[in-house]
Amino acid sequence: MHLTKDQVEGDFRRVHTHLPKDRDLTEPTQLLTEARGILREKFLAADIGVTGANFLVAETGTSIIVTNEGNGDLTQILPKCHIVIASIEKITPTLEDVSQLLRVLARSATGQEMSVYTTLSTGPRRPGDLDGPEEYHVVLLDNGRSSMIGTDFQHMLRCIRCGACMNHCPVYHAVGGHAYGWVYPGPMGAVLTPSLIGVEKGGQLPNASTFCGRCESVCPMRIPLPGMMRHWREREFERHLTPSSMRYGLGLWAWVAQRPKLYRLGTRIVMHVMGYYARKTGKFYAMPFASGWTDWRDLPAPQGKTFQSEWKKRRGAK
Ligand code: SF4
Repeated sequence: MHLTKDQVEGDFRRVHTHLPKDRDLTEPTQLLTEARGILREKFLAADIGVTGANFLVAETGTSIIVTNEGNGDLTQILPKCHIVIASIEKITPTLEDVSQLLRVLARSATGQEMSVYTTLSTGPRRPGDLDGPEEYHVVLLDNGRSSMIGTDFQHMLRCIRCGACMNHCPVYHAVGGHAYGWVYPGPMGAVLTPSLIGVEKGGQLPNASTFCGRCESVCPMRIPLPGMMRHWREREFERHLTPSSMRYGLGLWAWVAQRPKLYRLGTRIVMHVMGYYARKTGKFYAMPFASGWTDWRDLPAPQGKTFQSEWKKRRGAK
């Protein structure tokens, strides 16, 4: 989703060198047809198909996959062996329980009543079945999840990965999905990642939140995401994991913020200086103390007046 049509065409021409050079790839349907042709060969040649699972059903031993593209079905039906790798919180007691969750998942993810494909697999192909693998294995992954039980972060185990918290998050919209450094992006990743790899490695993620609360209000599982991010921030602070430059910087900011006249003067000066230096392009490509941002993306220069002066002007106009 983050590539343009032309970039996809460029990648296809670079990698699919066995196809005619003069083929037309200007339309999305032509790109789709080429991708489908290449991928179908791989699906048909594979001995093993590895999938995750949106849910596992304890009552029947079923794994469930939800997709809109059918890629999950091709992976689990065509190869001889199907291996499911799913984390333990995906287990639901009964089929009736899961039927509720499937509806909630599709609505919260894409606004559909149900996904295009909802596939239930319960073991290998039986005599008389038209398709299916000869072998079927389920691998349950804990990877730190059971240690979350009974802690402040237990609520996170209710997550059904619908993505609603990401789709509504203003930070996620600005920085994109590749900026989170590990498997899970967005607000749910900011809570789950430190639980799985430790706050020492993932502690910067809960700091990348405005705490606007939108994620919690849209979450269908009512997971208190901002509250749990706050817990992680407290732990990071208590363990002195925050770099000293940030601690001193925040201390200085707090000192200035408690002196409104000084704060207003300071923000005016900083805004004018930044605006002057970025007058040609309107953005910064590099900046001292902000390389963590500018190494990866441009930093927009301040536009117009400060928030304080705009607010004063509008309030006076009423
Ligand atoms: S935290 Fe809630 S909104 Fe976000 S992916 Fe999980 S269930 Fe969906």
